Amino acid sequence: VPTYRAPLAEFRFVLDDVLELDHYAELPGFGELSPDVSSDLLEGAAKFCEERLLPLNRAGDVEGCRFENGVVLTPRGFKEAYRDYVAGGWPTLSFDPAFGGQGLPRVMSTAVSEMLVSANMAFSGYIDITQGACELLRAHGSPRQQALYLPNLVSGCWSGAMHLTEPQAGTDVGLIGTHAQPMPDGSYRLRGAKILITGVDHDMSENVINLVLARIAGAPAGIRGISLFIVPKFLVHDDGSLGKRNSIYVSGVEHKMGVRASATCAVTYEDAVGYLVGEPGQGLQAMFVMMNDTRLGVGVQGLGISEVAYQNALAYARERLQGRSPSGPQAPDQHADPIIVHPDVRRMLLTIKAFTEAARALALWTALHIDLSRHHPEAAERQRADDLVALLTPVIKAHFTDCASENANFALQCFGGHGYICESGIEQFVRDIRVAQIYEGTNGVQGLDLAGRKITLHGGRLADTFFDLLEARAADVRAVAPLQDYARALDVCVAELREATAWMRERSVHDRQAVAAGATEYLRLFGVAALTWTWAGIACTAQRKLGEQSGEARFYRDKLATGRFYLARAIPEARMLAARACRGAEPLYAVDL
Ligand SMILES: Cc1cc2nc3c(=O)[nH]c(=O)nc-3n(C[C@H](O)[C@H](O)[C@H](O)COP(=O)(O)OP(=O)(O)OC[C@H]3O[C@@H](n4cnc5c(N)ncnc54)[C@H](O)[C@@H]3O)c2cc1C
Repeated sequence: VPTYRAPLAEFRFVLDDVLELDHYAELPGFGELSPDVSSDLLEGAAKFCEERLLPLNRAGDVEGCRFENGVVLTPRGFKEAYRDYVAGGWPTLSFDPAFGGQGLPRVMSTAVSEMLVSANMAFSGYIDITQGACELLRAHGSPRQQALYLPNLVSGCWSGAMHLTEPQAGTDVGLIGTHAQPMPDGSYRLRGAKILITGVDHDMSENVINLVLARIAGAPAGIRGISLFIVPKFLVHDDGSLGKRNSIYVSGVEHKMGVRASATCAVTYEDAVGYLVGEPGQGLQAMFVMMNDTRLGVGVQGLGISEVAYQNALAYARERLQGRSPSGPQAPDQHADPIIVHPDVRRMLLTIKAFTEAARALALWTALHIDLSRHHPEAAERQRADDLVALLTPVIKAHFTDCASENANFALQCFGGHGYICESGIEQFVRDIRVAQIYEGTNGVQGLDLAGRKITLHGGRLADTFFDLLEARAADVRAVAPLQDYARALDVCVAELREATAWMRERSVHDRQAVAAGATEYLRLFGVAALTWTWAGIACTAQRKLGEQSGEARFYRDKLATGRFYLARAIPEARMLAARACRGAEPLYAVDL
């Protein structure tokens, strides 16, 4: 059965040394974050995840969610764990104190999210979606809607769900047919059906606040005719107390490949009462607040699964005795060497480790920029941070989850046949993380968002801001004598990414087919460049720490060596990806499929 220890030293290194959170003490929420407070917080979350959530992970997978007498039941122990999570105040961590939140930085709740995923990805999904619902209502809810729904959503007493997908409308949300009829009292009645909705009903929270896309009678076809509605499971009285059960019904729980403890349901609205959020016809735009928030959460799922898969593969590789090292026996007193001596096993382990350590730093850097986009005193800095978050959202969602699927498979491979057997628990990581490449917009769609939209948005401002950061970092590492290999790798990535970006921008004017054909590989190139950039930042920090002779030298030397493993692979990968991304669509249509 898999084990998990939250990587607290890694979190501390990124937060204190790489991101230097103490430099932001003047921003709201950061001031309260003394080293003691943040240590207590991380340790408290680690304890909850290791002791409460991890033991439910495999049992939850085996038992799954059940649908009995019209009610969705989560696996044994989930309800109690959720109750304790809420009682511990964990959901409120980084929300606005005006709605009962603790007002701590998003960068802290992102660290907690990673631990939740590592311990129990299915459980973490309920939390992520509720957080997305809060963000949506914070941005687009009326003051009355915010007052009525946000405090209970923020506390976790109620949970949220997002309703887009219908049988005929997946990626193409413009095809949805759920219908909303206006009523004289200003509310609406919804009719229709959706599928694959996570958390629409379960036994952990007292109420579910569903955010539903539907079409108001007479609305135009396509996405311009889509509006957004709050459809509570139980209607809420003006004083916040629960009223009658709304006519939104689960028609079944999906039987899934993974995250089986997450309730994914088909649902029908039978004249369900709904309340319009924002303006008619602006529903998709509003829903994008929730989707972008959860896209980052899905990227963190990739990170969390990579971490836990790595920990278990590493432990197994140290113990499993098979064969001898090509350089001669390493454990001559044993009948065979541990498999960790074999180059191929080390390649797999280091691939996961080198991804995970940089991905964590990049995810937390991005979360810090969400904080800056909200709280920086200067409008230009808020805008800059917002641009960077918008640009990196599809990269983190897709690249982290593509890599995480590969990583989970590498971890399973380290276990050999034992990993393929369910009792090992390793195969669950492969199954669980697979969906992260699909939901919240498939990874193919993330590529289109990046290559077809984000890099040309506002005259290319978003991407140019990021390229400036890449070049500034390249100059930083060039100035540090022992880091010249880091500088060279970053130079290659920047050159390839700049050239591919220019190619995409040029094609976006007259050959969108070519942009679409190369979008997935362009996104991967972007991901590799972003992680190389992150490694260069980590290396600067590690080198500085070594120079100051502070902390454990071995920790920093390991960082530099892990980064070098990443660089050596990033250089050829960036060249290959750029060549593939800029090939055009012609070969794809040369064959009659
Ligand atoms: C476990 C799980 C939980 C989910 N939870 C939710 C939820 O809470 N709420 C919700 O609304 N939905 C949810 N979904 C649905 C999910 O968001 C959709 O499955 C996803 O958006 C893809 O839609 P689809 O399955 O219809 O695939 P399709 O849209 O049919 O896509 C099929 C394939 O075609 C590709 N494709 C489609 N259009 C294009 C295009 N224009 N360009 C290039 N490629 C394209 C896709 O990338 C994909 O590879 C969930 C799904 C799962 C599996």
